[in-house]
Amino acid sequence: MSNNTELVAIKKYLHEYSGPDIRIMEICGSHTGAIAKNGIPGMLSEKIHLISGPGCPVCVTPSSYVDRLIELSLKPDTTVLTFGDLLRVPGSRESLREAEGRGASVKMVYSPMDTVAIAKEAPDKKYVFAAIGFETTTPVYALLLDTLIKENIKNVKLLTALKTMPEIVDTLCSSGAQIDAFLAPGHVCVVTGSRVFEKAAEKYSLPFVVSGFDGPGLLASIAMLVKHRGEGVVINNYQSVVDHDGNVKAQELIDKYFCKSDAVWRGIGNVPGSGYLIRESYAAFDAGSAGLSEDEKRNKACSCDKVIMGLMPPEKCPLFGKICTPENPQGACMVSPEGSCNTAYSY
Ligand code: SF4
Repeated sequence: MSNNTELVAIKKYLHEYSGPDIRIMEICGSHTGAIAKNGIPGMLSEKIHLISGPGCPVCVTPSSYVDRLIELSLKPDTTVLTFGDLLRVPGSRESLREAEGRGASVKMVYSPMDTVAIAKEAPDKKYVFAAIGFETTTPVYALLLDTLIKENIKNVKLLTALKTMPEIVDTLCSSGAQIDAFLAPGHVCVVTGSRVFEKAAEKYSLPFVVSGFDGPGLLASIAMLVKHRGEGVVINNYQSVVDHDGNVKAQELIDKYFCKSDAVWRGIGNVPGSGYLIRESYAAFDAGSAGLSEDEKRNKACSCDKVIMGLMPPEKCPLFGKICTPENPQGACMVSPEGSCNTAYSY
């Protein structure tokens, strides 16, 4: 069968599916965007429901983390270095961008490694890198620490809010979110390997399909999930870059500089063992990442907590598209193009 014939068959299968309703969660923000961009929801039978989960890095970063970054950025001689998305994420009272108006020193960077040149250029200044993300980006932060140590750069610290997938998947499965299958995050699995979801698949008798991000690949992955409903299996449908054990060198680099820790998720709260902190032996590079408090919403009507857990579609939030838009985000899910609310608004 040619690839095109196969794709036509998959599309027909998904369009005509008439079995029991199935709720499939994608736990990667890039999947959320790719699904919308490829018009996939419109190709599916009304029995197949796609739900976005907690896989967009800025969406799950708690307001207390933004508050702490703002505090640091207001200190004399200290500049916070961050990716652009994080600038607009609301803290409990304001965002980093708003804090700039009262003197916060903030600089946008495109890569954590930009920090090295910036710090070398002004050795008398202090820099704090805002290190957020999942297993995908943690090796880059480990590489940054490695470089800072090797090059004897002492004016940089990291404020981390790093998350790991298996524990939040376990929280979702045990929370009553009624998920029948998971589209597993391809980028995360490049680092962790597909094996990272085997425990949850077996424990909850749920299928996980590791997927890439192109339209045909996503459709094939969704079809696999429908066909394997009720089975505790992990299927790797992204074999060009993902294998069973992942990138061992990246895992070793993470392990050298970070240890597993509890982590606070926006709208969810503390999830035991679901994050990383810099190891005690490298504490000199930690800007005070431990002990973030539970999330505090700036706009009490924001329903990001329910959206992130797959309990409410973005459009049902009373603020969606009215006072909450990408230009004026009231919650983190509206900020990044990977956020569920931003994606729902844009497509
Ligand atoms: Fe929060 Fe805005 Fe999404 Fe509502 S639409 S859940 S306010 S981000």
